Amino acid sequence: MGQGLSCAASQDHRFFSAVHFGDLETVNAMLERDPSLLYQTTYDRQYPLHIAAANGQIEILSMLLERSVDPDMVNRQKQTPLMLAAMHGKISCVKKLVEAGANMLKFDSLNGRTCLHFAAYYGHSDCLQAILSAVQSSPVAVSWGYSRFVNIRDGRGATPLHLAARQRRPECVHILLDNGALVCSSTGGYGSPGTTPLHLAARGGSLDCIRELLAWGADRMQRDASGRIPYVVALKYRNGTCAALLNPSSAEPLVWPSPLKFISELNQEAKALLECALMEANREREKNILKGTGYSLPSPSHSDDGTDDNISEASDTELCCICFEQVCTIEVEDCGHQMCAHCTLALCCHNKPNPTTACLTPPVCPFCRSTIARLVVAKMKDCNDADQDIGDGGSPKLRKSRRSLNFSEGSSSFKGLSATFGKMGGRGSGRIAAENEWVDKP
Ligand SMILES: [Zn+2]
Ligand SMILES: [Zn+2]
Repeated sequence: MGQGLSCAASQDHRFFSAVHFGDLETVNAMLERDPSLLYQTTYDRQYPLHIAAANGQIEILSMLLERSVDPDMVNRQKQTPLMLAAMHGKISCVKKLVEAGANMLKFDSLNGRTCLHFAAYYGHSDCLQAILSAVQSSPVAVSWGYSRFVNIRDGRGATPLHLAARQRRPECVHILLDNGALVCSSTGGYGSPGTTPLHLAARGGSLDCIRELLAWGADRMQRDASGRIPYVVALKYRNGTCAALLNPSSAEPLVWPSPLKFISELNQEAKALLECALMEANREREKNILKGTGYSLPSPSHSDDGTDDNISEASDTELCCICFEQVCTIEVEDCGHQMCAHCTLALCCHNKPNPTTACLTPPVCPFCRSTIARLVVAKMKDCNDADQDIGDGGSPKLRKSRRSLNFSEGSSSFKGLSATFGKMGGRGSGRIAAENEWVDKP
């Protein structure tokens, strides 16, 4: 606001600064006096709507939209206010703009990126989720196809999943995969060699991103345009722990079943339980892989011991009849049989996705062999109920082991299970059957 500024320039400055800081009163008053300010731009051609969106000034943004400002006006880089809101993680502005009909399929002129790319790149998982939910019920899903939108490419062929993996955004990686992002998509397009999300995660060095991608079936052997597998990329960028997991000679992690239909028919809680179990199982494998490599896992976000025990000791539910180790947390519909999340995984996961056989063998209940219609979270037994057949029980641990020894004397549902289980020929063979017979073989 130096002396050299003209009167108009100083007015513009006051106006933009009021928008920036959310001074609704001043913005309103100035617009009453001079409505043309709505279409005034800053030196880099940002409109007031851009400034409000980038700074999360939801009141100003709403007021501007009420004045019928075009939600898709673009700045110098052809970025829309929605892109800026997604870039800066301003979730309320993202929602408001989408509501106002902002176009989610716009590309900027810098890298040819969309609002989804920006949310993924900057790791704003809430914005990412909001955009994806909005697209599902928008004309974009019809005209473009939802899955095509999720896998939309920027000017260099990168999908939002590529960017999230590169920028170490495991939460965004998870959401994108969950919404149909192609785990092995290559920046070179279909069939041609290029960089995969796993290459970029190896470069970025995020173990969590690598875990997510591998659990979703990312291929450790896929080569980029220079012929490198992700393992080599991880070595180049000195991400030793990542390299150990990406080493093709180390044990393969558990992978979600490739026809994700089965898993997507889970209810959300059951899905979360299974995801947890899958990640836990893979962590165990990781420990074995890293044994003797000199690398160790950086302080895990979740402690390995304790959590599980707490769950199993705190709840007086049935022990799983397949492993006798974990509590039944998953119930099969329609037959009502229960097992633990780990055994459920062993039933539906396999080491290598095989698209040719996977669809032919839908998982069946290991107890009654009926087709699994749905998996839900097992209903917890009433504590009083459970205590009655155990007596005063002593420590939860003792109770737990007693329960597994006397399983035939358990409650009725437990009896039902053990009866079926008995026919299968005892503990050992039951377990083998569950692992071999029903597992979707590679
Ligand atoms: Zn089990
Ligand atoms: Zn059953």
